[in-house]
Amino acid sequence: MATAVEDEKSLEIEYKSFKLMLEEPWLKCGRCGENYCGSTEKLLADEFFEYYKIRGGRDIRTCIAVFAQIKAHCWNLGKNRWSKQPYKKIQLFKQVVESNNQANEAEVFTRFKIQIENDIAACMSIAEFCLPPKTTPKPPEAACWICLDDEPDEHGESLERTCACRGSSGYCHINCIANFAAQKNTTFMQRMMTGMSMSADESSKELSVPWTQCPTCNQDYTGTFAWRLAVTFSFQYYSYPYNELRRQVSIETLSRVFLETSQYDMGIGALKKEINLIRTMRKELRTDGKIASGFWMDAGDLNTQKN
Ligand SMILES: [Zn+2]
Ligand SMILES: [Zn+2]
Ligand SMILES: [Zn+2]
Repeated sequence: MATAVEDEKSLEIEYKSFKLMLEEPWLKCGRCGENYCGSTEKLLADEFFEYYKIRGGRDIRTCIAVFAQIKAHCWNLGKNRWSKQPYKKIQLFKQVVESNNQANEAEVFTRFKIQIENDIAACMSIAEFCLPPKTTPKPPEAACWICLDDEPDEHGESLERTCACRGSSGYCHINCIANFAAQKNTTFMQRMMTGMSMSADESSKELSVPWTQCPTCNQDYTGTFAWRLAVTFSFQYYSYPYNELRRQVSIETLSRVFLETSQYDMGIGALKKEINLIRTMRKELRTDGKIASGFWMDAGDLNTQKN
């Protein structure tokens, strides 16, 4: 008996394989099977779109080509570079898809309408990340909501606002936010000590949110401010034991924020450091002659251990 959920699932699979079939020749090297990257990826994605655009926005092939093109452009913007173009394009495209002109709607388009809408939403959020940060002039009454000062702090850090707050609210010094977040973490850990039970997901969210989200508008910090704050989070607990909850959450947060702010190189650097640390720990454990249960080891390590 097929339920609606199963129907949607199989439709999803059908859509994905159709998409793969269509885009692979444009995005993947036929020799080695690797995805193209950089300017080659961008160029080929443009060609892909050019090839299908004549069919119009309500043809599934044009849709898939547009999605590929938007992603290729967003992912290859490079360090600290912004573009309004992908966002404008997907917005325009959304209008075309949503237009009520049913005249030459292909059957296949109607069939995958939900999947296409999901892809449009996904492209929208990717493209949103590439939009240049908004630079609204700071109102004269703006002040840090924590220390209430309107001047740069003693480290020369100026007032910043990278969330969704409007008017004169939401301005802060990065160091004030760091102190505020660390304080929140301490309070949370004290509550944990009293035996409050909470899932791992919930507690890691409790710990990371003060470092990533404005408590006034509940929106994530963005851009340089966001990753600088995440770096501060990881420094705050760097000397803590590796398995300490706050240290673990800070590293998780750091890699997520690097990814979200397109700081890929720094993300890789941070994770490499972690991996090296884990390797050192593993060596130490081995020389101690005891292996913590649940610690990851490959077969080679197990053999050395036995000898
Ligand atoms: Zn190749
Ligand atoms: Zn302040
Ligand atoms: Zn805010």
